[in-house]
Amino acid sequence: MPNAMPTTGFKPQATLTQIGEQLAGYDPQALSADAVLTFLEQMVMPLEGAQAVPLIEALDRVLAENVISPLSVPPHDNSAMDGYAFNGESLPAAQNLQVVGTALAGKAWHGQVQSGQCVKIMTGAIMPAGLDTVVAQELAQVDGDRVQIAASLLQRGDNRRLSGEDLMAGQAALPAGTRLGPAACGLLASLGLAHVQVRPRLKVAYFSTGNEILSLGETPREGAVYDSNRYTVHGMLTRMGCEVLDMGVVRDDPTLLEAAFVKAAGQAQVIITSGGVSVGEADYTKAMMKKLGDVAFWRIAMRPGRPMAVGRIAQGDRSAVMFGLPGNPVAVMVTFLAFVRPTLQRMMGMQSTTLPLLKARSQEVLRKKPGRTEYQRGIVSRNAQGELQVIITGNQGSGVLSSMVQANGLIVLHHDQATAQVGDWVDVMMFDGHL
Ligand code: AMP
Ligand code: MG
Repeated sequence: MPNAMPTTGFKPQATLTQIGEQLAGYDPQALSADAVLTFLEQMVMPLEGAQAVPLIEALDRVLAENVISPLSVPPHDNSAMDGYAFNGESLPAAQNLQVVGTALAGKAWHGQVQSGQCVKIMTGAIMPAGLDTVVAQELAQVDGDRVQIAASLLQRGDNRRLSGEDLMAGQAALPAGTRLGPAACGLLASLGLAHVQVRPRLKVAYFSTGNEILSLGETPREGAVYDSNRYTVHGMLTRMGCEVLDMGVVRDDPTLLEAAFVKAAGQAQVIITSGGVSVGEADYTKAMMKKLGDVAFWRIAMRPGRPMAVGRIAQGDRSAVMFGLPGNPVAVMVTFLAFVRPTLQRMMGMQSTTLPLLKARSQEVLRKKPGRTEYQRGIVSRNAQGELQVIITGNQGSGVLSSMVQANGLIVLHHDQATAQVGDWVDVMMFDGHL
């Protein structure tokens, strides 16, 4: 199958202005986090195209087809235990049965069983004709070719796996848009599928901006900081299964920035930058984005991560989705999780794009003004009552990356929420395997 390179992930009909106009109360100077998500959902659509890959390469890809089960799993009624198979019709009467054969996994027993007889059977062996119940060997006393079974502990149908109890032939096994994790890959293998159709990988170019940003290996100089954003962005994109293109650090220089955007838009479907979008900067990044594409600048009612640019950069007949994230390292990670991740997942054709929120009791007062969404770095654990509780990781400054390292989740204090008191339940977005 050819791996068609999709040219756009945009809804072709709408400009950003048009999308904004359709949103109730759209105010680019004070957008709620929910409004941002709605906007982004309107802006992109799943990329087209599919490719067949061997199942072993399908991990973390997104399924491009509805998979219908070509066979039943398991294919036959079979035993869930090592023991003795018999006809459960006569239960619960106590039984003393004669053993007339042995059924092994992969080697069926084809004889006829009369009343009062049983067949020794191993886990996974096909149930012999007429038999529907298995007694585990621990509950059977063997004496020569006879077994005494603890009938009072058994019910008809015990320890028998029914044909098709996992999947029936012809039944929907997995829907298109499923992210293929280890369980889904195993399920596809159980159906005998050696290849699956998956969505193309999303190609994402990213670079950092700022005259003060040092790449690793450069000698420290006064006022300069090492570039951490490229590493957090690289990690989060890689965990999502994206193909990444690291374009380094770009100085705050219009010519260099223009060249970087043009190169990125020519090679990737998404461009992520950090820095240079706040107010009162040497604003070349903004100017360049505007020149090359259709870009909206937002001030989002959130903390951390207030300024953000979103849009598209055109390059020939292609255009790339662009996210201009703030420069502060924690703000980069928070805006990525809150906005970039669900948008990219939608472009990847994934079905579900929200991270589940857990409820945990706050162990401290979390000061909060209604009217913006706040994300605090939290450590979730269990209290003596077995409830989830959460504590914040000290300094919540938007540059304090160690707070992200210590945390196992983000406490989400929603737009309308006020200060949370000790013992209040708060929502937490667990990092799980994403960070
Ligand atoms: P800016 O949004 O460009 O004004 O940057 C905001 C803050 O984030 C400044 O303190 C920058 O030095 C810092 N910053 C910007 N980009 C990076 C980066 N790639 N790595 C670490 N810190 C950064
Ligand atoms: Mg900067």
